[in-house]
Amino acid sequence: MDHHHTANPSHAATPTCWTVVVPGPFFGGFTYHFDLDAGPAPGVRVRVPFGQSERVAVVIEPASAEGEQETRPILEVLDEAPLLDDRTLACLRWAAAYYHHPLGEVVFAALPKALRGERRLEVEALVSTPAGRSALEAGEAKGERQREALSRLVTSAGPVPVAKLGPAAVRRRLVEKGWAEPTRMTAPAEWSVPVEPGSEAAPALNAEQQGAVDAIVSAGEGFRAWLLHGVTGSGKTEVYLALIERELAAGRQVLVVVPEISLTPQLIDRFARRLSVRPAVLHSGLADGERLAAWRAVAAGTAGLVIGTRSAAFVPLARPGLIVVDEEHDAALKQQEGFLYHARDVLVWRARQLAIPILLGSATPSLESLRHAWDGRYGHLRLTERASGATMPAIHCLDVRGQTMVAGLSPALLRAIERHLLAGGQVMLYLNRRGYAPSLVCHACGFVAGCPHCDAFLTWHRQIGRLRCHHCGFEQGVPADCPSCQAPLSVRGMGTEQLEDVLAARFPGFGIVRLDRDATAGKGVMADSLARIARGEARLVVGTQMLVKGHDFPGVTLVGVVNADQALFASDFRGPERFAQSLLQVAGRAGRAERPGEVLVQTHDPEHPVLRRLLSEDYEAVMAAQLVEREQAELPPTRFAGLIRADAPQADAARGFLAGVADQLRERFGDELAVWGPVPAPLARRAGRYRFQLLLLAQVRSTLHRALWAVDDSVGSRRLGGAAALVDRRRSDRSRLTATAGALHCGEIPSTWRIAT
Ligand code: ADP
Ligand code: ZN
Repeated sequence: MDHHHTANPSHAATPTCWTVVVPGPFFGGFTYHFDLDAGPAPGVRVRVPFGQSERVAVVIEPASAEGEQETRPILEVLDEAPLLDDRTLACLRWAAAYYHHPLGEVVFAALPKALRGERRLEVEALVSTPAGRSALEAGEAKGERQREALSRLVTSAGPVPVAKLGPAAVRRRLVEKGWAEPTRMTAPAEWSVPVEPGSEAAPALNAEQQGAVDAIVSAGEGFRAWLLHGVTGSGKTEVYLALIERELAAGRQVLVVVPEISLTPQLIDRFARRLSVRPAVLHSGLADGERLAAWRAVAAGTAGLVIGTRSAAFVPLARPGLIVVDEEHDAALKQQEGFLYHARDVLVWRARQLAIPILLGSATPSLESLRHAWDGRYGHLRLTERASGATMPAIHCLDVRGQTMVAGLSPALLRAIERHLLAGGQVMLYLNRRGYAPSLVCHACGFVAGCPHCDAFLTWHRQIGRLRCHHCGFEQGVPADCPSCQAPLSVRGMGTEQLEDVLAARFPGFGIVRLDRDATAGKGVMADSLARIARGEARLVVGTQMLVKGHDFPGVTLVGVVNADQALFASDFRGPERFAQSLLQVAGRAGRAERPGEVLVQTHDPEHPVLRRLLSEDYEAVMAAQLVEREQAELPPTRFAGLIRADAPQADAARGFLAGVADQLRERFGDELAVWGPVPAPLARRAGRYRFQLLLLAQVRSTLHRALWAVDDSVGSRRLGGAAALVDRRRSDRSRLTATAGALHCGEIPSTWRIAT
């Protein structure tokens, strides 16, 4: 330190202050000074003293030293160049404010894991000297390898990593002769581009596809959001491909975001077959090193095409041209734990910031996006027919009231399964409940095996011989008989495991595959299962929500929805919307090739209005009716909603805390803000904690933000006091919010407190 003070006294006299952020429950940044020669810049990582220890922080902006008490020094700058450019930083600051989440957490969540610590990107390198240049010109280098290394150094504009300069002995000679000097440099972010052109030709686009492409192209550069509403199999991906090809040819980058990792392999394959690019891939299933390489290649602009899941929404783009969000309605685009954000909404904001178009595609668009399209804020593009010429499947209800069911299957559905199997078709059965049975009960005394930590039953997983809580992960062995009266236990309800057993016994020899989180947990299992279906080895497919997601199974002619009632009577206000989306998506798996498809939906309530409308009208009509209902109920998307949730080991602590917040908000905002609650959260007790929530609804977005800031402030300064003495803004409990998947959405700003009592 002293050495630098003497070397540069003027700097030492006026240290520059910087605001940095660290991950943790801190709303603001922290100010540090830096008094060495080369100062940090926004977007670089630094090492700083923090409390009694040291932390890695990211520099956000210069800070004024005025009014500050003594600042502590930045100890070390870890990056030569910013990891996050100004536009990405601006986006992260917006997201932190919009979602009311600590900026440090947001910034670190945006970095690949490999860069959240001290790992440096610098590598050893050599740089040529003037003597080296003359030596090369004079032909003094001896041997091919030495000549090659020297020529590479001299012709390169700057340093070259040692890895590219041949064996250590060769490099040592170059330094000994004074032709090169050792130095360090940031490892280059390289991305190989295959020389082979895409091997597959594009089909000629049909009129609707071409119309969609033309509309987007003729709108020119600059921000515009487009909703591409195309029925399942209508060729949305071909529209993406045509646009991607154009952007890549123009030297611009394209970011494609999909809701599920399992959707990336088929998309990557298809893109690679068609375009002469190797897409950079970003999702949580990658090794840290792979992810880092892809992230850097995108940030540096060396990778032209990037495909990722929701966290890719924040990747810096060096030369952005287009953003595509596939399956834009999918709830998996919303992060449900930790930093809660909706990738689609973040990307619309980013597209505006970057002044580029964004294309949101779905066969069943979200009500939010449809409304924007109806109001003309988004361009509205429709693909109404299947590209292959296949017809849309017919959907029929099976009224199962009074029917004798076999393992949840009505005689009519069993007959249909048999008919389709014998006709050579594949059959897919959708049941949104995994495990063997959702509960074990005692007929004698009424005992039900429940989770000791949650308001939930334990699911019996017969294959592994365990009872498991799907909310907190609690597990135990299966009791031989009722723990309270020793009578034998029996199963109630049905899960995918049981359905698989029953079907395998009833239709032997047809081959069966189960697709759910349990059955596809192992590495490569999912790909294997999909391949077995594709080859027709498995003629029966049983699965959960996983079936709904975009897979293309051309041989499937019958789709059976085993239990529609579960979804129809969900308590979430988005229940009917989600039901309509799942039903049409799973129905869309049927009859994608020559053979026409049939869809049978088992229900106890065939007169349910949502179901009726889905069978008789089109999706937009169903959603239009939903919008009217939401308007009447004063719910999103016609209102701006925020959810504040608190959980605590005692119910009173959580409820009391939120009651205090509610009083404060009602007093301050009056009619401008509706405050609902506190009420128990959908799963009122989970992992041993009682969960309550407040729903805030405002006509005007800024009112909602002001209300949430007011809560942040008063909680931050602990003015609420009382039972809720200490509030930890950090959401370390990973399973906290999953029970209300769908409760937070577009325009809704989640906010959660954990009360540590
Ligand atoms: P979506 O993404 O809307 O589900 P895809 O793009 O996967 O639809 O297309 C469905 C099927 O139709 C694919 O097998 C695709 O190759 C084919 N397809 C798409 N567009 C055309 C076209 N213009 N001509 C012929 N086949 C097409
Ligand atoms: Zn539990």
